[in-house]
Amino acid sequence: MKMTEEQFEKFKKSLQHAAEDSFFYRELYKDKGIEIGDIKTLEDITKLPMTDKYDLRRVYPLGIQAVPDEKVVRIHSSSGTTGQPVIIPYTENDVETWGMMMARCMKVAGVTKQDRVHITPGYGLWTAGIGFQRGAEMLGAMALPMGPGNTEKQIKFLMDLQSTVLCATSSYALLLAEEITHRGLKDKIKLKRGIVGSERWGNKMRNRIMGELGIEIYDIYGLTEIYGPGISVSCSKHNGLHYWDDQLYFEIIDPETGKSLPDGELGELTITTLTKEAAPLIRYRTHDLTRLLPGECSCGLRYPRHDIILGRTDDMIKIKAVNIYPGQIEDVLKDVPETSSEYQVVLDRGLDYKDFLLLRIESMPGIEKEIVERAVKQSFKTRIGIAIQVEALPIGALPRSEKKTARVIDKRYC
Ligand code: ZN
Repeated sequence: MKMTEEQFEKFKKSLQHAAEDSFFYRELYKDKGIEIGDIKTLEDITKLPMTDKYDLRRVYPLGIQAVPDEKVVRIHSSSGTTGQPVIIPYTENDVETWGMMMARCMKVAGVTKQDRVHITPGYGLWTAGIGFQRGAEMLGAMALPMGPGNTEKQIKFLMDLQSTVLCATSSYALLLAEEITHRGLKDKIKLKRGIVGSERWGNKMRNRIMGELGIEIYDIYGLTEIYGPGISVSCSKHNGLHYWDDQLYFEIIDPETGKSLPDGELGELTITTLTKEAAPLIRYRTHDLTRLLPGECSCGLRYPRHDIILGRTDDMIKIKAVNIYPGQIEDVLKDVPETSSEYQVVLDRGLDYKDFLLLRIESMPGIEKEIVERAVKQSFKTRIGIAIQVEALPIGALPRSEKKTARVIDKRYC
């Protein structure tokens, strides 16, 4: 989406602030020979280098900080399971801005002052729990800061306090839903809606949570480096997530070349903060795959939308000069009702030295193997544009794994 004049005014200030006051950006721009005086028009943003989590790790712990210590009121940190964590400082204004965005998300998801908001994401260095809490409080709803785990207590509070809104990851929402159904407590629970973190999750899981709890589900998106959760949310139309373009500028880039992509095309989400003070970020690569949705939403909200997160750039499969994402394969399988949601991708090189993709899928009992294989092949060709081989196996034949990467076997370089 092209930057608006209004965004550009904020952007220029934010860029100057970053370039002058943040050690990280000062060094980066010096290194790359960037003069911020050269950024004169809306399009000039593409002249600026992109950064990501790996760059921020190099200036651990606080090399990103762009304000004096007395202005910093809090820090958060992304999980450090793979290497050094990323520490993000916040000013009082940053905390307020984040809370305001989160409150907007809740409002779009239909939360009102009358609601009781049961918050199960973690508290502490992680941004999730406290983000939901601040949003609920700013909206004037009643926040229940539960945190994760202790299912016994969660269910007790859901019943005794009659919570109406559940904030959770998709896996925890499913666990609670199953437990409530298992114990036959559905009638004692008053949940109406769920605000669920938008990691990539299937429709089948969503339908199960909605069905078992009888609630409407809204996706929420965010990342610690850009405040935390709450930078976008799905509305009642459930056709993409609205994001707050008065605070953030979203670009979609080709993860391979770094070139900006037009609206509607799938690529990597890259975010520029427009008002963030303690840790401004310019063209920050999220490594999340999505697309910007052109046109206005029929809900009437003027904020632009992006699609649900379709995967991570790390999960990208490259074959015959085409990039394929797990989310696209899941979409193909959704087209063919005779398949389960399980699949395995085998990349190999044929005797003709040409690469090919074999997609192993599971077909429902009683359906002829060839019919399912043909249907998947056809759908793949139409949706993704390349011809593949398909092998249909009986239900349960493929290994079940939480990790998407385990679904891809690359034999090409063996
Ligand atoms: Zn909408």
